[in-house]
Amino acid sequence: MSIYLAALLLWAASGNQQSLAKKPQPVPSATSNVERALNRISADSLRGNLSFLSSDLLAGRWTPSPGLDIAAEFIASRFRAAGLEPGNGTDYFQLADLTELAKQSGEIRDRAIDHPIIARNVVGVLRGSPGELSNTYVIVSAHYDHIGTLDTSGKLGKEKTENNGDRIFNGANDDGSGTVSVIEIANALAKMKQRPKRSIVFIAFCGEELGELGSLYYTQHPLFPLNRTVADINLEQVGRSDSDIGKGNATLTGYDYTTITLAIQRAAKLSGIHMVKTKETDPYFQASDNYPFALVGIPDLTLATSFNFPDYHGLGDEWQKIDFPEMVKVDRLAARAIWLIANDAQFPEWNSQNEKTAKYRKAAPGESAVAQ
Ligand SMILES: [Zn+2]
Repeated sequence: MSIYLAALLLWAASGNQQSLAKKPQPVPSATSNVERALNRISADSLRGNLSFLSSDLLAGRWTPSPGLDIAAEFIASRFRAAGLEPGNGTDYFQLADLTELAKQSGEIRDRAIDHPIIARNVVGVLRGSPGELSNTYVIVSAHYDHIGTLDTSGKLGKEKTENNGDRIFNGANDDGSGTVSVIEIANALAKMKQRPKRSIVFIAFCGEELGELGSLYYTQHPLFPLNRTVADINLEQVGRSDSDIGKGNATLTGYDYTTITLAIQRAAKLSGIHMVKTKETDPYFQASDNYPFALVGIPDLTLATSFNFPDYHGLGDEWQKIDFPEMVKVDRLAARAIWLIANDAQFPEWNSQNEKTAKYRKAAPGESAVAQ
């Protein structure tokens, strides 16, 4: 219970309504500020945004495509509405020439790359409150691209032929769900009167389905110094409860890799979500946009509520199958954890007891780089 609510209850119990105006009003605590911010995360808002992003109009958001461009403009408009600063100084876009990275990627070696692959990452910033920590950055990310239509999907698509006239891979859960969650969390935290101590950078990446190309490009062309970027929390497939992870549960990739997990576990307890570790949490560490951050030594993970679900890379991954009330809980969990990390003077660290983190620890920017 917040201090504010306790004071109200005391007042009601006293039965002395006349004297209220003369008494000093209780000051809402930081905790109640956070609770109010979390309550802004709503199923209706998530449903509204996702039904557009995964509509047939956007034709499966292939990188690059007109549908992907429309998605980018939409995400930027939501960042603008939330009051985020443009990540690129003047606008929300990082133009990325992914052609060379695509040629090296194993994901699309089944086809010739005979045209430039140029697309945009969408980046918005919630600037930290004045102080040294505001020059350090927590990244919150998801990928907004998907595998397009039967014309583009190739080996990435589960189906190879039309299903009752449907030829669009809508990518509602993968990863429209993470994208609208990033928007929703940004909006909730940006509307708080209190700013976080660290700055929070919200990024929607392009080109993930081609081999995490948008995030790889970002780590090669960072908009904020990597040696002052303390974590990446990536959101993937957070909308389906008919998944391998199960309703009421969430999971992480690289479960025991970093201290970010401790913040997530604390947040989960307060959010009504049970965290589960499966045998896939380690292998899937490399399977989303958190991974390029690991390669440059920045602690990271992906939060998900499904590794596998019935329509994975299928024509039926549509927004009507998303469990929005459950997604609200997961987004509140993520927002709480992000808030904890963004206000903690101690930056997240790799777990030195876990040998699987050795190569990422070796790539780390070094303690002096993130010293406050
Ligand atoms: Zn994905």
